[in-house]
Amino acid sequence: MTIREIMQYIESEYSVINDTHCEICGGNFFAEELTIDIVDGVPYDVCDCVCSSCGSTKTFEFFAPFFDKNTMDNIKKNLN
Ligand SMILES: [Zn+2]
Repeated sequence: MTIREIMQYIESEYSVINDTHCEICGGNFFAEELTIDIVDGVPYDVCDCVCSSCGSTKTFEFFAPFFDKNTMDNIKKNLN
């Protein structure tokens, strides 16, 4: 997978987050931190999100088998 394809994948994750509304107030979430967690040897893209209205938090997890450390470093450069 190229970085460009991975960026598109991340954008699709963000659209899932944008389409999810807060269970408490119905507000929109925004992504606060993106990290990679390895669960049983499989990388997951873990996105900590915060409700923009009431501040409640929600963690989104996305299956991301193509991630490794080098890829993640490149993505962080692209996001900055
Ligand atoms: Zn809320």
